[in-house]
Amino acid sequence: MIRINNLDKYYNKGKKSEQCALNDVNLEFGNTGLVCILGESGSGKTTLLNAIGGLDDFSGGSIEINGTKLTGYSPKLTDAIRNEHFGYIFQNYYILKDYTVGYNVKLALNRYDLTEEEKNERVDYILDMLGILKYKKKVVSKLSGGQQQRVSIARALVKAPNIILADEPTGNLDEENTLKTMMILKNISKECLVIVVTHEKRIAKFFADRIIQVSDGKIVSDKVNNATAYERGDDSNIYLKEYEQEIIDDKYAEFKLYHKKDDIPEKIRLNFVFKDGKLYIQNLSENDLVIANAENGVQILDEERPSLDAQDVDNFEYNLSRLDEKKNAGLPFREIWHMAMANIAALGKKQRFMVIILLVSAILLSITTAKYVNDKVIDEAAIVTADSHCLKVNIENTDIFNEDEHMDMHEFINKYLNNKKYGDIICQNTSGMYIEGRTFTQIKSQDISLSDFSYIPYEHLDKNKLLYGRMPEKRNEVVLDKQLIDKVTEYTSAVSLMYDGYESYVGAKLHGSDATVKYKVVGISDMGEPSVYCSPNVILSLMENTTLVESDEEFNRENVKGYKKVKLKDNEVLIRKGFADSEGYKIGDQANLDGDYVIKGTFPDGLGVDYVMSDKGCKMLMCEQIYMDSACYSYTDNIPETKKYYKKISSKYLEKFEPVMTVPHDDQIKEYLEQYSTVSVSGNVIMIAAAVISLIMIYFMIKSNAMLRSEELTVYKMFGISNKSIISAFILEIYAMASVTTLPAVLVTAGIIKLISFAPSLNVGVIFPWWAVVGLLLCNYLVYAIICILPVKSILAKPPAALDLK
Ligand code: ADP
Ligand code: MG
Repeated sequence: MIRINNLDKYYNKGKKSEQCALNDVNLEFGNTGLVCILGESGSGKTTLLNAIGGLDDFSGGSIEINGTKLTGYSPKLTDAIRNEHFGYIFQNYYILKDYTVGYNVKLALNRYDLTEEEKNERVDYILDMLGILKYKKKVVSKLSGGQQQRVSIARALVKAPNIILADEPTGNLDEENTLKTMMILKNISKECLVIVVTHEKRIAKFFADRIIQVSDGKIVSDKVNNATAYERGDDSNIYLKEYEQEIIDDKYAEFKLYHKKDDIPEKIRLNFVFKDGKLYIQNLSENDLVIANAENGVQILDEERPSLDAQDVDNFEYNLSRLDEKKNAGLPFREIWHMAMANIAALGKKQRFMVIILLVSAILLSITTAKYVNDKVIDEAAIVTADSHCLKVNIENTDIFNEDEHMDMHEFINKYLNNKKYGDIICQNTSGMYIEGRTFTQIKSQDISLSDFSYIPYEHLDKNKLLYGRMPEKRNEVVLDKQLIDKVTEYTSAVSLMYDGYESYVGAKLHGSDATVKYKVVGISDMGEPSVYCSPNVILSLMENTTLVESDEEFNRENVKGYKKVKLKDNEVLIRKGFADSEGYKIGDQANLDGDYVIKGTFPDGLGVDYVMSDKGCKMLMCEQIYMDSACYSYTDNIPETKKYYKKISSKYLEKFEPVMTVPHDDQIKEYLEQYSTVSVSGNVIMIAAAVISLIMIYFMIKSNAMLRSEELTVYKMFGISNKSIISAFILEIYAMASVTTLPAVLVTAGIIKLISFAPSLNVGVIFPWWAVVGLLLCNYLVYAIICILPVKSILAKPPAALDLK
């Protein structure tokens, strides 16, 4: 049931070219029957049909379809109604010409919950009914106009819709096919409503149950018609091809007499009088004179009497079951894939341009990305010389030497900075180390200098990150991070050649500026830091002007004969024997160690230490060193938190000294970036412009491709394929295309860049790491999807009829 109330439609509303195509149309349609909308060309028939069928918007009034009232085009609602109720037959449009007959017809079934078999069954059934089953696998463009028309009918009927809308369905057909088509529609109209738009009165008269005449956008008549078409006897027209012909040709007149072979008339005698531009006829014969025109229901047609293969029509029983709509109108992935592949197969030469754009832009983007990566990706390991956990604390104003401030400072360092919860303070040791080579016997000693690193107490070394060797146990044992070894071996030297791989450094000897004290590498770590891990006392001892010190615990671990269990109080110290002798120290004396220490005893020379103290004693010594340096590092996992804490606790001492905190690791990176950022700006601008241009080109290419194919989009949309599926198919299509253009282009460009960087003579040193290649590809595919969605979506949001115009 369709009810149309006060329907108006203006084209180009509000513009100069505004045109009223429908003017206050009021109509009602029942559930069955064949209704003809008749009118001259341009009278508004198509406009009316499009409005009813939800193919176009309208300007005013309402349309109610089976209880749902529409007052305008709304993509969601209109699409739903269209899919639920209508089947369309168009003169020549909306068939996918590059696809097979079967594909086109099956398209209308995609939104229904049918198995592939059931779909095929229905398609075959309807194609067979329409006599075109044998063309099922043929591409539509290879068929004749009449055959294409039947494909369109098949597609409309295959889902057994409630309402069939047909716009000039016979416009392209010869007489015979016109009759056949109309017979089919007539047959169907017993089951459902068929609205046929035509400008041929004859067709309307023969077949319609009701004729609505339209003129200038208005309904001018709406009458019940007694259709009697398919009883051939009722065809009272005269078909000249059935008659014999006699011609009498004269100077003034040409007469043709038509008669049946065995029905020769008596001599015909007529008087023709020409007067004032009019022709008067006087009949002198016995026979009646009948003027053939539509009024008399007789037309004289110069053609064969349309012959109907009666069987064709009588066999046509329309008994396809109505279908339940599937909730999810999306297509399964297989179908989308099929659609995308079919699209690609159908892409012709016009797509060559697209391929070139994709290739060129992929190459441009690859070069841009490689350049960008080169500028932005810094080899941190090559730049930084400080451990990233280190916060440098400078304690300013310590040059005022007054006893009070000395005490304040000690208190500050000891009590607050030394709060391990926030950070572990380390004294600022800037002295380097040397790795000794296992050199040739001829050469006495060979060292590689190990500089630009941080000394970190080994308690911060993660045992799980030891690559080789073990954790330090004794005072003179250290662990090297592999990052340092990388640095050392960056430039080959006689010594580094003697080592082979990280593991070979385990066991190597190290020494500070004083080569008599040796340290041993016991492990190689992979902390990703430029650090040497050792005892805090080693760090302290290696500093210039400091005494070589170790804790009693460390001392005990040395297993010096006779010194098994040394336990010192915080103010007690053991002194190296030789040192004590040279200074004239005796047990019980005070030692001159910036504090009051009592000499508890001596120990043998040659251990690499001068003093042994309690743990706390060592710490005090370190604090003293920090005080003298007015600087230290704090090792922390949370630099901001530590900073905050130090700021807070130092507020008490602010007037006298203010800690200035920096993060050397971050500063080094920042400084490096600043140094190189200016260099690359101009180059980047060009490359980014190239990238943007290529993306814009791709956008317009996809957009114009979508526009070119708006008819195809319309077909998919009209036959109930969800927008999501259509967009997915388009994306898949561009992905498939990208995979044979962008993908290889990026890979080849990356390969070439790699090759170039391998050739040392070119000295180009460009890197294009694999993650940047993968990232670029992912970005490309993502951007393609977005670029694809925009134009296709905007096309799909418009009414189908508005699209077809373009
Ligand atoms: P019919 O189908 O009866 O031949 P139409 O419904 O196609 O007529 O057209 C009715 C009137 O509206 C015509 O005068 C036609 O020129 C005009 N018209 C149709 N479509 C458009 C359009 N897209 N833009 C402007 N005018 C249109
Ligand atoms: Mg029309």
